[in-house]
Amino acid sequence: MKRQVTRTTTKSLIRSLDRRGTRSNMSPPVAQKGAPIEDPSVCDICGSVYTAKTWRRNRPVPAKMMDAAAWTVCPACKQAKSGKYFGRVLVRGANAMANLDAIRARIANVERRAEFTQPERRIIASQWDGTTLEVLTTSQKLAHRIARELQKAFGGRARYTWSDQDGALTAIWQSDTRTERA
Ligand SMILES: [Zn+2]
Repeated sequence: MKRQVTRTTTKSLIRSLDRRGTRSNMSPPVAQKGAPIEDPSVCDICGSVYTAKTWRRNRPVPAKMMDAAAWTVCPACKQAKSGKYFGRVLVRGANAMANLDAIRARIANVERRAEFTQPERRIIASQWDGTTLEVLTTSQKLAHRIARELQKAFGGRARYTWSDQDGALTAIWQSDTRTERA
């Protein structure tokens, strides 16, 4: 198997990423698929560490590894930067507003658990517009898990649709009017 090491490309890409930029650019992230990531690498934005083919977050990094590591931007931060999401959760229903704090806490909890093993699965935006809570995630699996957990905790019904346009998953959780179970 051929492996191309294109450091220059990676470096110039990183340089072109402005960390403090807005998320107004909705274009997809620069294609980096298949580009080799150096082992170890540290994400310049969130501190996730890439080693043994896996990104991990919130792990202490030995100083030696830090010295040897290449600085890069992890997939989740690249997505967050561009505003590109692959999963979306819509929370709706009569009970949603009444239980917004509990629902938000539950969603944060699901994200924390996912993040521990899969830091690239992350929430990139969350917005309540008065009737609907919209949560954008970097992964479809995380969106699915959030909707499933909400259904488990609060009842109601989750359903799933995929966009014809870009294949992103929308998970719609409709809270019902039954007595809350959590
Ligand atoms: Zn990162």
